Amino acid sequence: MRYLCRMPKRHNRKKWWIIAGALWVLILLIRMMPLYKPAPSAPFSGPYWYNPYREVSTEGRWLRANFHAHSNAWGLFTNGRKNTVKDILSKYDSLGYDITGISDYQHITQTPATPYIPVYEHGYNILKTHQGSIGAHDVYHGDYILPQTRSQKQHILNKLKERTQVLVLHHPDWMGGYSPRDMRFLTGYDCFEVLNDFWNSEDLWDVALSSGKPAMIVGGDDAHNVFKQTDLARDLTLIYTVSDTVKPDDIYRALISGAAYGVEVTRMLSRASVVEKRRNLDSLPLLQSCKISNDSLIVTLTGKAGEFRFTGQDGKILKQVSDTVTGIHTAAYLLSQDDAYVRVKIAFSDSSHIYLNPVMRTVEKDMKPSMPASQKRWLFSIFDK
Ligand SMILES: [Zn+2]
Repeated sequence: MRYLCRMPKRHNRKKWWIIAGALWVLILLIRMMPLYKPAPSAPFSGPYWYNPYREVSTEGRWLRANFHAHSNAWGLFTNGRKNTVKDILSKYDSLGYDITGISDYQHITQTPATPYIPVYEHGYNILKTHQGSIGAHDVYHGDYILPQTRSQKQHILNKLKERTQVLVLHHPDWMGGYSPRDMRFLTGYDCFEVLNDFWNSEDLWDVALSSGKPAMIVGGDDAHNVFKQTDLARDLTLIYTVSDTVKPDDIYRALISGAAYGVEVTRMLSRASVVEKRRNLDSLPLLQSCKISNDSLIVTLTGKAGEFRFTGQDGKILKQVSDTVTGIHTAAYLLSQDDAYVRVKIAFSDSSHIYLNPVMRTVEKDMKPSMPASQKRWLFSIFDK
C-alpha cells in the first residue's frame, strides 16, 4: 500500500521537471529568435520633393567607385590564387577608379588606398542574405545560417548599422536573399546594391521605394579574381564631390544623401581588356544635372543617350523619351500629384545603363525621407534591451 502511494508522487516530480525543462528550452528558443514588428510600409508623402542631385553642377566631378571586391587575404572563399590587395588596387587604378574598397567576408582588410575606406561583406547563411558595410568600425560575427525570418534579417541589419557608416543590402534579389515582402517591412539600411555582376535587383528596389524606404543605389563588381576580365568594371557607383581631396566622410555622406548613381556597363565589353574598359568608361556621358523646376524633373547628360525612362510608384513606367538615331542629352517629366517617387534610367546605344537615385516626396524641405525606426515586439524586448 505504501509503495502504491509513493509512485504518483515520483511521477509528479518527473512531470514537473519535464515541464520546467520544456519551458526553459522555449525561453532559449525565443531568446534566439528576434521578434520585430513589421516596419511601417507607405509611399513617400509630403508637400516637397527631395532631390538628391540638387547640388550637382559643373563645379564638381564624379568619382568612380567599387566597394565590392574580394581579395585572397581571407583565403577561404576566393578563387584567385594571386588576387592580392595590391593586385586589386592596381587593376582598379588602371581602370581610372578613384575609390576601391576591399570587401572580404567577415573581415575588414586594411589597404594602402587613398582614400582608405574600411569595408567588408557580412553573411555566411545558405541563401546569400548578405550585407555590405562601408565605413565599417568593426565586424559583427553573428548570423543565422538557415533561411532567415524577416525578424532575424532586421536584427542583423540593426547590429550592422551600429558598427558602420553606410549599410548596404548586397545583391538583394539573388537567390531570394531578400523577398518583396522583406523589402516592404525591413528598415534601417542606407543603400541597395541594385547592380551586381551576379544579379540585377532593379524590380526589388522599386518594392522598397514604393513602401517608403529611401534606399539609395550602389553598383558593385563583386569581383572574386581581378585576373578574370569578366570580374572587372561591370557595375560601378559614381559619387559626386566638389572637394579636391576626397575624405571618407564625404563619400559616406554622398552615398547616404543619394548624390551618386549606378552604372551598368554593356555586356559586350565583359571580356574586353583593361585598356578597352577604361576607354569605354572615359567616354561614357556623365550626369550633368538633375533639377526640379516648376514641377518638371529635368535630367541632362554631358553626352547623348538613346533613351530616358521615368519610373514611379510600384515600378510603373511613367514616360519614355527615346531617339536611337541621333540620340538625346536631356529629357523632362512633369511631376504629378500622384507621384510618390520618380527615378530615371538611361540607356546608351551600346546597352550600357545609368540608374539615377529617385526624387522622393518629403515632409520637410530638402530633407531626405527617413527610414522608419525598427520596433521590437514585447516578447523580444524583455530579453534584449
Ligand atoms: Zn555576397
